[in-house]
Amino acid sequence: MKVLIIGAGTGGLALAHLLKQAGVGIAVYERDLAPNANTGGYRVGISPAGSRALKACIPGELYDLYVATCARSPRYFNMLTEQLGEVLSFDIDDAGPNALDGERNVIRKTLRRVLLRGLEDDVFFGKALQSYTTNDDGSVTACFQDGSLATGDVLVGADGTSSTVRRQRLPDARLEDTGMVSLGGKIPITVETKALLSDKMFQGMSLIMAPMGFGAIIHSLEFTETRSDPGFAARWPDFVEALDEDSIGWGIWGARQNFPRDPSGLSGEQLRELGLEITRDWHPHLRALIRATEPSTIHDVKMRTSVPLKPWTSSNVTLLGDAVHTMTPGRGAGANTALRDAALLGRMLVEAEQGRRPIIEAIHAYEVEMLRYSAEAVQESKRQMDASDLAHRPVVGRVQLAVTRGAMRTINAIPALKRRAFRQMMRVRGEN
Ligand SMILES: Cc1cc2nc3c(=O)[nH]c(=O)nc-3n(C[C@H](O)[C@H](O)[C@H](O)COP(=O)(O)OP(=O)(O)OC[C@H]3O[C@@H](n4cnc5c(N)ncnc54)[C@H](O)[C@@H]3O)c2cc1C
Repeated sequence: MKVLIIGAGTGGLALAHLLKQAGVGIAVYERDLAPNANTGGYRVGISPAGSRALKACIPGELYDLYVATCARSPRYFNMLTEQLGEVLSFDIDDAGPNALDGERNVIRKTLRRVLLRGLEDDVFFGKALQSYTTNDDGSVTACFQDGSLATGDVLVGADGTSSTVRRQRLPDARLEDTGMVSLGGKIPITVETKALLSDKMFQGMSLIMAPMGFGAIIHSLEFTETRSDPGFAARWPDFVEALDEDSIGWGIWGARQNFPRDPSGLSGEQLRELGLEITRDWHPHLRALIRATEPSTIHDVKMRTSVPLKPWTSSNVTLLGDAVHTMTPGRGAGANTALRDAALLGRMLVEAEQGRRPIIEAIHAYEVEMLRYSAEAVQESKRQMDASDLAHRPVVGRVQLAVTRGAMRTINAIPALKRRAFRQMMRVRGEN
């Protein structure tokens, strides 16, 4: 069997590794011109289930490299007011250097570099898919913008939110605007910037729940220990310079109607001004972080979400990750779900390769299961970030915020409730 994978992102590369290890023929086609194209310097939070899915896909040596290139694991997940008062705080088990479970933070472009290792001869850059055709013999041919063609038995669209494969395979699938907008940046960790965060904030990730439905996230990313570890340099010398600088990342979001201006199209300086305007009444330390952020690191992020899909008749053209279920960053579940897809689809295709079930039946089994869990992740992620929610209204929003904060403080005080709330949060990110 030969599998054509469109897109060398998180899900596509994980799938490629799994299939290659099982002896399935693969070729990955990526639109970017080169491996080090600007794939985003932002952080992606990988949940324990996301790490387990990745481990199921990639060789052990590569998994070690993934773990080693993640930032120090966060110890706490904090929910705070805009004045930095604690509402709820979960202890997250320390992942430890080799532990499988645990929350991890990775820089997206570093993760891609890790996942490209071992696939040097299998990934083709500068190959933007234009369309595909299905042939009489059951094979499928990918047609690229440069006029070249590639033929295989299965085609997997792992080509992200604006998927070309999805447009042809599921022409009725739609993305909708959530009405939410956001901006974020990052700032190097120094004695001064570290002093702006409490110890629990610095050691963890913090979500801020502010009036009018505004929200923010703050997280610190430290690679210092890895950078100074001689063992790391000896084992992966070519990855020492790939480690990001230590930084504090921040993001702010809200309903477009409550933003003083739409952030899309604004320069870094203008976005910083906008951030300061929105946070006018917030804690001075948060504003100091924003004020000191280098404008070139500040970007706006669009918040789109897939409209739930109805099941379709399976064929040898399928989809995974954002291509089939784009979700808001509200639950930090997009990459985790893409990894879950890769592990599941890979397992099914290997079963087909081994003759244990026909290819289309294997793909159908994947699609049924993927549609089930991704629908929940999309829905829960939207619930967190939806401009039509009452939270964004001036009066009723304040009442709702007060009630939510009150409920969270109660949960914070009762360990059994706290454990349940944490389990529910992790379920959306793939934890059973
Ligand atoms: C700021 C931000 C923060 C996020 N934080 C988190 C988080 O904390 N946790 C989490 O789980 N998720 C997070 N996400 C979501 C996560 O990044 C995505 O869900 C994840 O990258 C999806 O993986 P994927 O493989 O489906 O697609 P991608 O990783 O987007 O890969 C798609 C690939 O396809 C390529 N491509 C596109 N079109 C074509 C074409 N026509 N031909 C060939 N190649 C093509 C693209 O260049 C790209 O390389 C975040 C996203 C953003 C923007």
